[in-house]
Amino acid sequence: MNLAERDHNVIWHPYTQMKTAALPVPIVRGEGALLFSEDGTSYIDAVASWWVNLHGHAHPYIAQKVTEQLNTLEHVIFAGFTHPAAVTFAERLLQILPSNQSRIFYSDNGSTAVEVAMKMAIQYWNNQDTPKHKIIAYRDSYHGDTFGAMAISARSAFTVPFWPYLFEVEFIDVPVAGKEEETINQLEALAKQDDIAAFIFEPLVLGTAGMVMYSPEVLDRLLQICQQHNILTIADEVMTGFGRTGRTFACDYLHHQPDMICMSKGLTGGTMALGATSASEKIYNGFLYDDKAKTLFHGHSYTANPVACAAGLASMDLLLAQEAQDNIKRIVEHHTAFAQSINKLPQVAQVRQQGTILAVEFEDGTTSYFSDLRDTLYSYGLDHGVILRPLGNIIYIIPPYCITDEQLEQVYEVIRGMQQVVAGAKHYPRPNQTTLHD
Ligand SMILES: *Cc1c(COP(=O)(O)O)cnc(C)c1O
Repeated sequence: MNLAERDHNVIWHPYTQMKTAALPVPIVRGEGALLFSEDGTSYIDAVASWWVNLHGHAHPYIAQKVTEQLNTLEHVIFAGFTHPAAVTFAERLLQILPSNQSRIFYSDNGSTAVEVAMKMAIQYWNNQDTPKHKIIAYRDSYHGDTFGAMAISARSAFTVPFWPYLFEVEFIDVPVAGKEEETINQLEALAKQDDIAAFIFEPLVLGTAGMVMYSPEVLDRLLQICQQHNILTIADEVMTGFGRTGRTFACDYLHHQPDMICMSKGLTGGTMALGATSASEKIYNGFLYDDKAKTLFHGHSYTANPVACAAGLASMDLLLAQEAQDNIKRIVEHHTAFAQSINKLPQVAQVRQQGTILAVEFEDGTTSYFSDLRDTLYSYGLDHGVILRPLGNIIYIIPPYCITDEQLEQVYEVIRGMQQVVAGAKHYPRPNQTTLHD
């Protein structure tokens, strides 16, 4: 049995209909932006392995720092104890986060970083003896897969069985270009209620919604409204953080700063599972009482895992170095040129870019056709050596920053090919889903 077949006997994969899905591609090695399968085929990782990888796979510098940490201290309970990696990483995160952030609370993934922020927001008001219960979120948002995170995310097909269990949320529309005033009005109407604890948002780019983008100006306006009405604000930078939008954080494009920021994914450069929620001094002070009942009672076994923090520190060294900063600029420029070259092509409905994130939205056909199209485009990419995971009719690139010009060009070429498939100019068979990819 090969690896994919052994996998099929024992593994249950995320977001995968195990009955009909093709066998998974067995990856045995990674280097730079490339992943190598068991039979030696290479793939360009144009989605940074679900948006986590910043500096390429198996990066030797991160590997070295992780190894050193593993040989020194692999883990220690984080209540009543601390360790150098957690403290240094928090100090350095606070140096690059917006200046109002003053505390780091560690957890172990993006969903938990979001859960922590929500619990901070709700308990903050409880601790002041002015309990507030409602959270405002974008109608199309995605904040994770745990129950609280699902509740504040879009009521999508993914969460139907759980709808009855998801707490009530006030949804507002994403203020995409031309719709800004509508969202501002919706928020202003809600802000008049006195039961609103917080507004949580994906700043500038909503990933899972289909790389939907909106301007910093309108987000600033929304933050201003929240601040005027004493509504706490939470930026979910799980995807947008660490250079993705062209600046270190999407919030760096804003004048108003949020009370809390959620981080994960790029936090360790894509090496280890780690989450972090930063909070302003105002939030932190809201938990300082002699009364123990006002403690933030939240923690995970692996809170502030030293190996993960060491990976985070190493990734930050690389991110702040000139090479990564130059790479980010280079990717932004290449994306812009590519976007201009394709945005007038037939079947290309819209091309969107925010920093290193590029999304190409193909014209909508009938929905059923497009559910097939998604699978066709996905295997078209794989067959051409590029990992791209379309969100319906939207294809996006969110590359490791070390991706070379040649590799980027190869990714663009595959997207041009996809455009021809969508336009019908190129025939490409729908994958037989029960067969092997390799
Ligand atoms: C991926 C993502 C999450 C969830 O992170 P996980 O580590 O997958 O739990 C939350 N918010 C945003 C914006 C994300 O993109």
